[in-house]
Amino acid sequence: MRKAISVIMSGICMMPLLTACGNPADTVKSADFFAMDTYMNLKAYGRDAEAAVAEAEARIYELEQTFSVTDEASDIWQINHAAGEAVSVSADTISVLQTARQMHTESGGAFCISLYPVLRAWGFTTGEYRIPTDSEIANLLQNCDDTKISVQGGGVRIPEHSAIDLGAVAKGYTGDAVMEILREHHISSAMINLGGNVQALGCKPDGSAWTVGITDPFAPDSMIGTVRVTDKAVITSGNYERYFTGDDGQKYWHILDPETGCPADNGLVSVTVIGDSGAQCDALSTALFAEGTEPAVQHWRRSGDFEMILVTSDGDLLMSEGIAADYTAKKDMPCRVVQRDEKP
Ligand code: ADP
Ligand code: MG
Repeated sequence: MRKAISVIMSGICMMPLLTACGNPADTVKSADFFAMDTYMNLKAYGRDAEAAVAEAEARIYELEQTFSVTDEASDIWQINHAAGEAVSVSADTISVLQTARQMHTESGGAFCISLYPVLRAWGFTTGEYRIPTDSEIANLLQNCDDTKISVQGGGVRIPEHSAIDLGAVAKGYTGDAVMEILREHHISSAMINLGGNVQALGCKPDGSAWTVGITDPFAPDSMIGTVRVTDKAVITSGNYERYFTGDDGQKYWHILDPETGCPADNGLVSVTVIGDSGAQCDALSTALFAEGTEPAVQHWRRSGDFEMILVTSDGDLLMSEGIAADYTAKKDMPCRVVQRDEKP
């Protein structure tokens, strides 16, 4: 699978200098592996880097099992097969579901984890792609309602014939869990890439900011630009990652619009969200993509705790004002910087 973001880790300075994020006694540990249906890389600098990365990798496999929709031992499988009964689940699942419920509200319903039966009908869960009929989609949509997901104490209940999947938020939550482990091991500098979800801890060992590339959705082998970040998540949702071309010659992608049950086609082809929390940025990138251009801008104006880089289907770039100074363009595209206060 093509990944949304490439990480540039150029010029890492190994000089024995005491810097903002580095220490002469630091060692570097890197791990590459496949989990949650995607390629992952962890890279950490610190005295305890080896143990930290090993523990983080184990935690990722644990969360993969917890959030899987196909593993019968997973919390999500149990919830989806409880025929309307309450299921007792882990604190991780409760926390992700709370983020998802909140994003459903904040996005005016565009973020909807109970779309799973519709995603399945399109074949996005198996790769056996097809275009469902209008009546099939209309029938399935009747059971897609995130407000009916009940989370009480350690228990979760969804209506019979409903099913949820955490594909839009699980990797971001997992990134936060990895960051927690790295901090516990006093890692001063780290960069993780969980299938395009990039999260940075501190800055590079030489004291400069991390640089994260933003994929060009129209030419995914190249970048539209880069952003400089320290201690931030940089998470992209795009229409170029998982899609198929139908017999009708049209492109169909994996982020659906709950209004139509079809791929969200509301003016955006790529949404990058930059913020402190991986779970929030991951959920937001999917939410804003589904919402579409103007609602996404309004969502950003209401929120105030994240920045965003949008690419429209017309090839324009829209960027929130708080990230503009950290963005370096690699391609010449029309660009609008969105201000917090709406200008007449
Ligand atoms: P990826 O994980 O592929 O990088 P996203 O974070 O945007 O991309 O998540 C896309 C996944 O979210 C889909 O594969 C599907 O499981 C789920 N999904 C699709 N549409 C929606 C939606 N409107 N709301 C919530 N989840 C969605
Ligand atoms: Mg997401």
